[in-house]
Amino acid sequence: MRPTTPYRPLDITIPFPELKAYARTATLLHPRSGAPTAGDSSVGGPLLWPADEAWPVCGTDHGGASGVRPERARRYERIVAAAWARPRADDTGQVPYTEAERAELDEMTLSGYQPDRHDGSPLPLLALAQFYVRDVPDLAAFPPPGTDLLQVLWCPFRGHDDASLHDYGPSTRLRWRRAADVTELLSEQPEPAIVERKEYLPNPCVLFPERVVEYPFADYLPGELVERIDAWEDAFQERAGDAAPWYQYDLSLAPGWKIGGWDSWHRTDLMRVYCGACGTEMRLLLTIDSGGGGRSWVPYDEARDARDPTRPVDLYGPTGIKAARDEYRAFVCPADPSHPHRMSTQ
Ligand SMILES: [Zn+2]
Ligand SMILES: [Zn+2]
Repeated sequence: MRPTTPYRPLDITIPFPELKAYARTATLLHPRSGAPTAGDSSVGGPLLWPADEAWPVCGTDHGGASGVRPERARRYERIVAAAWARPRADDTGQVPYTEAERAELDEMTLSGYQPDRHDGSPLPLLALAQFYVRDVPDLAAFPPPGTDLLQVLWCPFRGHDDASLHDYGPSTRLRWRRAADVTELLSEQPEPAIVERKEYLPNPCVLFPERVVEYPFADYLPGELVERIDAWEDAFQERAGDAAPWYQYDLSLAPGWKIGGWDSWHRTDLMRVYCGACGTEMRLLLTIDSGGGGRSWVPYDEARDARDPTRPVDLYGPTGIKAARDEYRAFVCPADPSHPHRMSTQ
């Protein structure tokens, strides 16, 4: 079943037609476990990287920082996924690990699941995702002239002194290129020897882009309009109780990995993001979602998995990525795409 989201419980522009002026499309990416190639849009898949271009490295010294080796993190994921996929004998909720698996997981967690230390040598960046404009309609608003492929890499450690809005998550690098320019692929994609957390290491996922319409986080709207929306919500709650939709969670902002659309500020209230080079207000490009949210937005295929106890239920979704409590977002300058992007968390 192709992942798609249900129709909204109602069209918010019927009671509030003035919201039409704020409508923006977003492309939900719906990453799902798979085996992407360099020719596919993906999370955690190989990048279309030319053989004659140096792979980027992190310039920050992470010497002594502790983390986990990627192969160890992947082994952990494989054990958990295999156990979740087994049928269960009872309803206790116990995951049916074998004794050997439980012993190995205990060794990985109890004896410190951060056993590895980085020796300070330059870290190759980790390939996080790539998106072809042809696959992701809302990406078309962003590419610098002559490019049609966005590649996202990150250093899987925190503690960088870069132009990010918040010094919290991994340091990201955005690389735009023209896919047709890549004639000879890099044969082996470098990978850092160690990552700070296994939640910074993506599982390979293919994408199922779906376009939706979004409306802004309330702080972007005029105060008198927000007051009327609040009063409308209160009246709806009185009539319908729990069945009443919320502007924030059901009718405006879609959860999940996405390109474009509006940015939510539900953890902090609105903090507008301005370009460090020219002062222009920046625009949301990419949202990296930590999973867990959803309400009426939960795609049909995920809802089906939740009712099927033999399927794995992954806390952070198929990508395995959790770079912030809810969202880690890349903002870019609409005035000049060569200006450095900024990251923000929610
Ligand atoms: Zn770094
Ligand atoms: Zn700028």
